[in-house]
Amino acid sequence: MTASPDYQAILETIAAKVRPLAAQGRVADYIPELAKVPADKFAMAVHTLDGRRFAVGDADERFSIQSISKLFTLLMALRMKKETLWQRVGREPSGNPFNSLVQLEHEQGIPRNPFINAGALVITDVLCRHFVQADRAVLEFLRRLSGATDLNFDSAVAESEAEHGYRNAAMANFIKSFGNLDSPVDTVLQSYFRQCAVRMSCQELATAGLLLANHGTVPASGEALLTPSEAKRINAILLTCGTYDAAGDFAFRVGLPAKSGVGGGILAILPGELAVAVWSPALDENGNSLAGAMALEHFTTLTGRSVF
Ligand code: GLN
Repeated sequence: MTASPDYQAILETIAAKVRPLAAQGRVADYIPELAKVPADKFAMAVHTLDGRRFAVGDADERFSIQSISKLFTLLMALRMKKETLWQRVGREPSGNPFNSLVQLEHEQGIPRNPFINAGALVITDVLCRHFVQADRAVLEFLRRLSGATDLNFDSAVAESEAEHGYRNAAMANFIKSFGNLDSPVDTVLQSYFRQCAVRMSCQELATAGLLLANHGTVPASGEALLTPSEAKRINAILLTCGTYDAAGDFAFRVGLPAKSGVGGGILAILPGELAVAVWSPALDENGNSLAGAMALEHFTTLTGRSVF
Protein backbone atom coordinates (compact mmCIF):
# COMPACT_ATOMS: atom_id res chain seq x y z
CA MET A 1 0.00 0.00 0.00
CA THR A 2 1.41 3.38 -0.98
CA ALA A 3 1.34 6.35 1.43
CA SER A 4 -1.98 8.14 1.73
CA PRO A 5 -2.26 11.11 -0.66
CA ASP A 6 -2.45 14.63 0.78
CA TYR A 7 -6.21 14.83 0.25
CA GLN A 8 -6.59 18.36 1.61
CA ALA A 9 -3.99 19.80 -0.76
CA ILE A 10 -5.49 17.83 -3.64
CA LEU A 11 -9.02 19.12 -2.93
CA GLU A 12 -7.78 22.70 -2.87
CA THR A 13 -5.94 22.24 -6.18
CA ILE A 14 -9.06 20.71 -7.72
CA ALA A 15 -11.34 23.50 -6.48
CA ALA A 16 -9.10 26.14 -8.05
CA LYS A 17 -9.02 24.25 -11.36
CA VAL A 18 -12.71 23.42 -11.76
CA ARG A 19 -14.65 26.33 -10.22
CA PRO A 20 -14.45 28.39 -13.45
CA LEU A 21 -15.95 25.51 -15.45
CA ALA A 22 -19.38 26.07 -13.92
CA ALA A 23 -19.80 28.98 -16.36
CA GLN A 24 -19.92 26.42 -19.20
CA GLY A 25 -22.83 24.45 -17.74
CA ARG A 26 -26.47 25.16 -16.98
CA VAL A 27 -28.37 24.88 -13.72
CA ALA A 28 -31.39 22.56 -14.13
CA ASP A 29 -34.49 24.62 -14.82
CA TYR A 30 -37.09 22.00 -15.77
CA ILE A 31 -37.77 21.98 -12.03
CA PRO A 32 -38.21 25.77 -11.70
CA GLU A 33 -37.33 25.81 -8.01
CA LEU A 34 -33.87 24.32 -8.75
CA ALA A 35 -33.07 27.14 -11.18
CA LYS A 36 -32.82 29.50 -8.20
CA VAL A 37 -29.59 27.89 -6.94
CA PRO A 38 -26.48 30.02 -7.73
CA ALA A 39 -24.37 28.33 -10.43
CA ASP A 40 -21.08 29.29 -8.77
CA LYS A 41 -21.50 27.14 -5.66
CA PHE A 42 -18.80 24.50 -5.26
CA ALA A 43 -18.04 21.93 -2.60
CA MET A 44 -16.17 18.67 -2.25
CA ALA A 45 -15.78 16.35 0.74
CA VAL A 46 -13.73 13.17 1.18
CA HIS A 47 -14.39 10.81 4.10
CA THR A 48 -12.04 7.88 4.54
CA LEU A 49 -12.76 4.54 6.18
CA ASP A 50 -10.08 5.23 8.77
CA GLY A 51 -12.10 8.24 9.95
CA ARG A 52 -10.36 11.17 8.27
CA ARG A 53 -12.40 13.96 6.68
CA PHE A 54 -11.32 16.55 4.16
CA ALA A 55 -13.39 19.28 2.56
CA VAL A 56 -13.23 22.36 0.40
CA GLY A 57 -15.81 25.02 -0.52
CA ASP A 58 -19.43 25.06 0.68
CA ALA A 59 -19.18 21.50 2.03
CA ASP A 60 -21.69 22.04 4.86
CA GLU A 61 -24.28 23.71 2.67
CA ARG A 62 -27.24 21.50 1.81
CA PHE A 63 -28.56 21.10 -1.73
CA SER A 64 -31.20 19.03 -3.47
CA ILE A 65 -29.88 15.48 -3.77
CA GLN A 66 -32.33 14.63 -6.60
CA SER A 67 -31.27 11.38 -8.30
CA ILE A 68 -28.61 10.59 -5.71
CA SER A 69 -31.66 9.46 -3.70
CA LYS A 70 -32.00 6.60 -6.23
CA LEU A 71 -28.94 4.96 -4.72
CA PHE A 72 -30.39 4.95 -1.22
CA THR A 73 -33.88 3.84 -2.23
CA LEU A 74 -32.25 0.96 -4.12
CA LEU A 75 -30.39 -0.08 -0.96
CA MET A 76 -33.66 -0.06 0.99
CA ALA A 77 -35.57 -2.06 -1.63
CA LEU A 78 -32.74 -4.56 -2.05
CA ARG A 79 -32.69 -5.20 1.67
CA MET A 80 -36.39 -6.05 1.55
CA LYS A 81 -36.70 -7.95 -1.69
CA LYS A 82 -33.22 -9.45 -2.11
CA GLU A 83 -32.80 -11.27 -5.44
CA THR A 84 -36.49 -11.06 -6.35
CA LEU A 85 -36.05 -7.31 -6.89
CA TRP A 86 -34.41 -8.02 -10.25
CA GLN A 87 -37.64 -9.46 -11.61
CA ARG A 88 -39.00 -5.92 -11.70
CA VAL A 89 -35.99 -3.85 -12.73
CA GLY A 90 -32.91 -4.67 -14.81
CA ARG A 91 -29.25 -3.81 -14.34
CA GLU A 92 -28.08 -2.86 -17.82
CA PRO A 93 -26.92 0.63 -18.77
CA SER A 94 -29.65 2.35 -20.75
CA GLY A 95 -27.54 4.46 -23.10
CA ASN A 96 -30.48 6.88 -23.00
CA PRO A 97 -31.25 10.03 -21.01
CA PHE A 98 -32.36 9.59 -17.40
CA ASN A 99 -35.95 10.55 -18.19
CA SER A 100 -36.37 8.53 -21.38
CA LEU A 101 -39.44 6.39 -22.02
CA VAL A 102 -38.34 4.69 -25.23
CA GLN A 103 -37.05 1.37 -23.90
CA LEU A 104 -40.03 0.75 -21.64
CA GLU A 105 -42.28 -0.34 -24.48
CA HIS A 106 -39.85 -2.95 -25.84
CA GLU A 107 -39.05 -4.19 -22.39
CA GLN A 108 -42.63 -4.61 -21.21
CA GLY A 109 -42.44 -2.05 -18.44
CA ILE A 110 -39.29 -3.53 -16.86
CA PRO A 111 -36.93 -0.52 -16.63
CA ARG A 112 -33.33 -1.05 -17.71
CA ASN A 113 -31.82 -0.18 -14.33
CA PRO A 114 -32.71 1.37 -10.94
CA PHE A 115 -30.82 4.63 -11.59
CA ILE A 116 -32.88 5.99 -14.47
CA ASN A 117 -36.20 7.58 -13.55
CA ALA A 118 -38.29 4.62 -14.76
CA GLY A 119 -36.30 2.22 -12.57
CA ALA A 120 -36.42 4.53 -9.58
CA LEU A 121 -40.21 4.75 -9.88
CA VAL A 122 -40.45 0.95 -9.66
CA ILE A 123 -38.10 0.97 -6.66
CA THR A 124 -40.24 3.69 -5.06
CA ASP A 125 -43.29 1.49 -5.64
CA VAL A 126 -41.58 -1.32 -3.70
CA LEU A 127 -41.10 1.11 -0.80
CA CYS A 128 -44.69 2.42 -1.07
CA ARG A 129 -46.02 -1.13 -0.67
CA HIS A 130 -43.89 -1.69 2.39
CA PHE A 131 -44.12 1.58 4.34
CA VAL A 132 -47.16 3.62 5.25
CA GLN A 133 -45.11 6.72 4.43
CA ALA A 134 -42.31 5.71 2.10
CA ASP A 135 -40.90 9.24 1.83
CA ARG A 136 -40.51 9.42 5.63
CA ALA A 137 -38.79 6.02 5.63
CA VAL A 138 -36.29 7.25 3.04
CA LEU A 139 -35.66 10.40 5.07
CA GLU A 140 -35.10 8.33 8.23
CA PHE A 141 -32.70 6.03 6.35
CA LEU A 142 -30.69 9.03 5.12
CA ARG A 143 -30.62 10.52 8.61
CA ARG A 144 -29.33 7.24 9.99
CA LEU A 145 -26.61 6.83 7.35
CA SER A 146 -25.43 10.44 7.49
CA GLY A 147 -25.77 10.87 11.25
CA ALA A 148 -27.56 14.17 10.55
CA THR A 149 -30.84 13.89 12.46
CA ASP A 150 -32.15 17.21 11.09
CA LEU A 151 -32.11 16.30 7.39
CA ASN A 152 -35.33 17.26 5.68
CA PHE A 153 -37.29 17.59 2.45
CA ASP A 154 -37.39 20.83 0.53
CA SER A 155 -41.13 20.95 0.01
CA ALA A 156 -40.89 23.86 -2.45
CA VAL A 157 -38.67 21.73 -4.72
CA ALA A 158 -40.94 18.68 -4.41
CA GLU A 159 -44.04 20.75 -5.22
CA SER A 160 -42.30 22.52 -8.07
CA GLU A 161 -41.37 19.15 -9.58
CA ALA A 162 -44.86 17.72 -9.04
CA GLU A 163 -46.34 20.71 -10.85
CA HIS A 164 -44.08 20.23 -13.87
CA GLY A 165 -43.53 16.47 -13.69
CA TYR A 166 -45.34 15.48 -16.87
CA ARG A 167 -42.66 13.08 -18.08
CA ASN A 168 -42.41 11.24 -14.79
CA ALA A 169 -46.20 11.04 -14.66
CA ALA A 170 -46.27 9.63 -18.20
CA MET A 171 -43.59 7.12 -17.25
CA ALA A 172 -45.34 5.96 -14.08
CA ASN A 173 -48.61 5.52 -15.97
CA PHE A 174 -46.84 3.61 -18.74
CA ILE A 175 -45.15 1.27 -16.25
CA LYS A 176 -48.49 0.79 -14.50
CA SER A 177 -50.07 -0.22 -17.83
CA PHE A 178 -47.61 -3.14 -17.95
CA GLY A 179 -48.52 -4.15 -14.39
CA ASN A 180 -45.13 -3.23 -12.91
CA LEU A 181 -46.48 -0.67 -10.42
CA ASP A 182 -48.64 -1.88 -7.53
CA SER A 183 -49.48 1.38 -5.76
CA PRO A 184 -51.56 4.18 -7.27
CA VAL A 185 -49.51 6.24 -9.72
CA ASP A 186 -49.94 9.40 -7.70
CA THR A 187 -48.75 7.77 -4.47
CA VAL A 188 -45.54 6.65 -6.18
CA LEU A 189 -44.94 10.01 -7.87
CA GLN A 190 -45.44 12.06 -4.71
CA SER A 191 -43.07 9.84 -2.77
CA TYR A 192 -40.51 9.95 -5.59
CA PHE A 193 -40.59 13.76 -5.83
CA ARG A 194 -40.17 14.10 -2.09
CA GLN A 195 -37.24 11.71 -1.80
CA CYS A 196 -35.52 13.57 -4.67
CA ALA A 197 -36.10 16.84 -2.76
CA VAL A 198 -34.16 15.83 0.37
CA ARG A 199 -31.41 18.38 1.07
CA MET A 200 -27.96 17.14 2.10
CA SER A 201 -24.45 18.62 2.16
CA CYS A 202 -21.33 17.08 0.62
CA GLN A 203 -20.14 16.18 4.12
CA GLU A 204 -23.40 14.35 4.85
CA LEU A 205 -23.43 12.56 1.50
CA ALA A 206 -19.84 11.40 1.92
CA THR A 207 -20.67 9.93 5.34
CA ALA A 208 -23.82 8.28 3.98
CA GLY A 209 -21.84 6.70 1.14
CA LEU A 210 -19.20 5.12 3.36
CA LEU A 211 -21.06 1.82 3.77
CA LEU A 212 -20.49 1.17 0.06
CA ALA A 213 -16.76 1.75 0.52
CA ASN A 214 -16.93 -0.55 3.56
CA HIS A 215 -18.43 -3.63 1.83
CA GLY A 216 -21.95 -2.96 3.13
CA THR A 217 -21.20 -2.17 6.78
CA VAL A 218 -21.83 1.32 8.20
CA PRO A 219 -18.45 2.24 9.71
CA ALA A 220 -19.87 4.44 12.48
CA SER A 221 -22.23 1.80 13.91
CA GLY A 222 -20.77 -1.48 12.67
CA GLU A 223 -24.20 -2.33 11.26
CA ALA A 224 -24.03 -4.67 8.23
CA LEU A 225 -26.82 -3.26 6.05
CA LEU A 226 -25.70 -5.16 2.96
CA THR A 227 -23.65 -8.30 2.43
CA PRO A 228 -20.24 -7.73 0.82
CA SER A 229 -21.63 -9.33 -2.33
CA GLU A 230 -24.60 -6.94 -2.41
CA ALA A 231 -22.29 -3.96 -1.86
CA LYS A 232 -20.06 -5.14 -4.70
CA ARG A 233 -23.07 -5.41 -6.99
CA ILE A 234 -24.41 -1.97 -6.11
CA ASN A 235 -20.99 -0.49 -6.84
CA ALA A 236 -21.02 -2.29 -10.20
CA ILE A 237 -24.42 -0.80 -11.09
CA LEU A 238 -23.21 2.63 -9.97
CA LEU A 239 -20.23 2.35 -12.29
CA THR A 240 -22.26 1.18 -15.29
CA CYS A 241 -25.49 3.15 -14.79
CA GLY A 242 -25.01 5.84 -12.11
CA THR A 243 -24.42 8.73 -14.50
CA TYR A 244 -27.05 7.76 -17.10
CA ASP A 245 -26.07 7.79 -20.77
CA ALA A 246 -22.69 9.26 -19.82
CA ALA A 247 -21.76 6.27 -17.62
CA GLY A 248 -19.25 4.87 -20.13
CA ASP A 249 -17.51 8.18 -20.51
CA PHE A 250 -17.59 8.78 -16.76
CA ALA A 251 -15.97 5.38 -16.11
CA PHE A 252 -13.35 6.25 -18.74
CA ARG A 253 -12.61 9.66 -17.25
CA VAL A 254 -13.11 9.03 -13.52
CA GLY A 255 -13.08 5.28 -12.89
CA LEU A 256 -15.24 5.29 -9.77
CA PRO A 257 -18.76 3.99 -9.03
CA ALA A 258 -20.86 7.16 -8.71
CA LYS A 259 -24.37 8.55 -8.60
CA SER A 260 -25.26 12.00 -9.86
CA GLY A 261 -28.32 14.20 -9.49
CA VAL A 262 -29.68 17.25 -11.33
CA GLY A 263 -29.15 19.31 -8.18
CA GLY A 264 -25.48 19.19 -9.23
CA GLY A 265 -24.28 16.65 -6.67
CA ILE A 266 -22.24 13.50 -7.38
CA LEU A 267 -21.41 10.86 -4.77
CA ALA A 268 -18.54 8.52 -5.71
CA ILE A 269 -17.09 5.50 -3.97
CA LEU A 270 -13.57 4.15 -3.82
CA PRO A 271 -14.24 0.65 -2.41
CA GLY A 272 -12.07 -0.23 0.56
CA GLU A 273 -10.97 3.38 1.06
CA LEU A 274 -13.35 6.31 0.92
CA ALA A 275 -16.45 8.13 -0.27
CA VAL A 276 -16.22 11.48 -2.02
CA ALA A 277 -19.06 13.92 -2.67
CA VAL A 278 -18.93 16.94 -4.93
CA TRP A 279 -21.43 19.71 -5.69
CA SER A 280 -21.55 22.26 -8.48
CA PRO A 281 -25.06 23.07 -9.74
CA ALA A 282 -24.31 23.79 -13.41
CA LEU A 283 -24.89 20.64 -15.49
CA ASP A 284 -23.60 19.22 -18.76
CA GLU A 285 -25.88 18.01 -21.56
CA ASN A 286 -26.41 14.62 -19.85
CA GLY A 287 -27.62 16.20 -16.62
CA ASN A 288 -24.42 15.54 -14.68
CA SER A 289 -22.57 18.29 -12.81
CA LEU A 290 -20.03 19.66 -15.28
CA ALA A 291 -17.44 20.91 -12.79
CA GLY A 292 -18.32 18.02 -10.45
CA ALA A 293 -17.41 15.35 -13.01
CA MET A 294 -14.21 17.23 -13.84
CA ALA A 295 -13.38 17.47 -10.13
CA LEU A 296 -13.70 13.69 -9.77
CA GLU A 297 -11.60 13.17 -12.89
CA HIS A 298 -8.84 15.27 -11.34
CA PHE A 299 -9.32 13.47 -8.03
CA THR A 300 -8.55 10.03 -9.43
CA THR A 301 -5.70 11.42 -11.53
CA LEU A 302 -4.05 13.36 -8.71
CA THR A 303 -4.48 10.64 -6.07
CA GLY A 304 -3.60 7.82 -8.46
CA ARG A 305 -6.59 5.89 -7.09
CA SER A 306 -9.61 4.45 -8.86
CA VAL A 307 -11.22 1.02 -9.15
CA PHE A 308 -8.97 0.26 -12.11
N1 GLN B 1 -36.32 14.49 -9.69
C1 GLN B 1 -35.57 14.48 -10.93
C2 GLN B 1 -36.42 13.91 -12.06
O1 GLN B 1 -37.12 12.98 -11.83
C3 GLN B 1 -34.33 13.69 -10.73
C4 GLN B 1 -33.53 13.58 -12.00
C5 GLN B 1 -32.04 13.55 -11.79
O2 GLN B 1 -31.51 13.98 -10.78
N2 GLN B 1 -31.36 13.09 -12.80
O3 GLN B 1 -36.39 14.36 -13.17
